[in-house]
Amino acid sequence: MSKLDKTNEHEEHTPSSSFSREIEKEPGGADIQHCIQCGMCTASCMVASVTEKYRPRKLIQKILLGMREEVLTSELPWLCMTCRQCEERCQEDVSLAEIFHAVRNIAAREGYIPVGVQKVVDTVMEDGWMLKDGYSDFIEDDRDDLGLHTDLGWNNEFVKKIKKRFIDGGNKK
Ligand code: SF4
Ligand code: SF4
Repeated sequence: MSKLDKTNEHEEHTPSSSFSREIEKEPGGADIQHCIQCGMCTASCMVASVTEKYRPRKLIQKILLGMREEVLTSELPWLCMTCRQCEERCQEDVSLAEIFHAVRNIAAREGYIPVGVQKVVDTVMEDGWMLKDGYSDFIEDDRDDLGLHTDLGWNNEFVKKIKKRFIDGGNKK
């Protein structure tokens, strides 16, 4: 059976809470009550492998237990890389990436956005570019050396503006 065919394929599991019901109604949060807390997601997670503070199973548990404020004010839901490795292995077809998107959407609406994330958003909104040194001629030069087309179909006006702004130290306008 494909994932598209599933209807009530998995049962709900307790506990639930008003917060987990809230997440359930948010786009992406529909499957949260199917979690059986097996821990396969944490065992599969690349972020969890590099930091002990990030434990996706535990984060789901906190939602199920209704720890709304703690979850929404935490940076942890923002650490998910959306790689979906956990989803490949979850026997209950729980989409943690989508659930954490739902959590982040609620958190953002209520003004809980980690400072680092907010700074990136502000930079993109202001400059249209995320990293100060994100553009260089090196890709074009390398391609030229190899006899390849150097026009990669980017928005050249945009790139020129960014290059002027960040590489050539020109006018910010
Ligand atoms: S792998 Fe799935 S069922 Fe197991 S703890 Fe993670 S989300 Fe829950
Ligand atoms: S989707 Fe998120 S929680 Fe799942 S393995 Fe990737 S980083 Fe970890």
